[in-house]
Amino acid sequence: MKHSVFDTSQQQMDVASKIVVGLERISEVFRVLLWDHAKTIGLSPIQIQILIFLAYHKYEFCNVSHLAKEFNVAKSTISDAVKVLERKQLIIKDFSPNDHRSYNIQLSEHGQELVAQTELFANPIKNQLSDMEGLEDFYELLSKLIYKLHTSGLLTVQRMCYSCKFYDKQEGAHYCKLLEKPLLTTDIRMDCPEFQSLPS
Ligand code: SF4
Repeated sequence: MKHSVFDTSQQQMDVASKIVVGLERISEVFRVLLWDHAKTIGLSPIQIQILIFLAYHKYEFCNVSHLAKEFNVAKSTISDAVKVLERKQLIIKDFSPNDHRSYNIQLSEHGQELVAQTELFANPIKNQLSDMEGLEDFYELLSKLIYKLHTSGLLTVQRMCYSCKFYDKQEGAHYCKLLEKPLLTTDIRMDCPEFQSLPS
């Protein structure tokens, strides 16, 4: 019989269940930090997430379709958020010369200033982690879990080494064929600007 991870009588005997519940708690802290910050600057959480994403990702990812996949929401949710961000002059739409309905999104100068005030909202979590022992082992497990969730279809978008066409194993060690160097476990990237998907 399969048990729920939330069934406390079974959870006590199963470390995987306890980790899932722990991850839920951490995502709750992330959500609360984001909401608290969102309230102080008069934006919604998804609007903040879009602005921060635009600041650090390639132009080709900065459109409604990709953002909807990235944040696992409907395109209409992104379009509504983009409308508000445009009204507040935080973004600029860059329309395609070939198709006037299609556009990419860039930060305006005002948007860049707002990102600078906003992007530290998750640092309280990082600050608690920074001086803990065992971070390398924790990161190895976490990156493998994310890879497994991606290959099983539960996580749609990610840009990490294990699913990148430049990733290789050489003499049992991680290797990046683009950077032409071995990667330590802690070098494995979670969100790599040079990531390219494996051919399907
Ligand atoms: S290009 Fe980036 S994601 Fe790909 S293997 Fe190299 S470091 Fe990893």
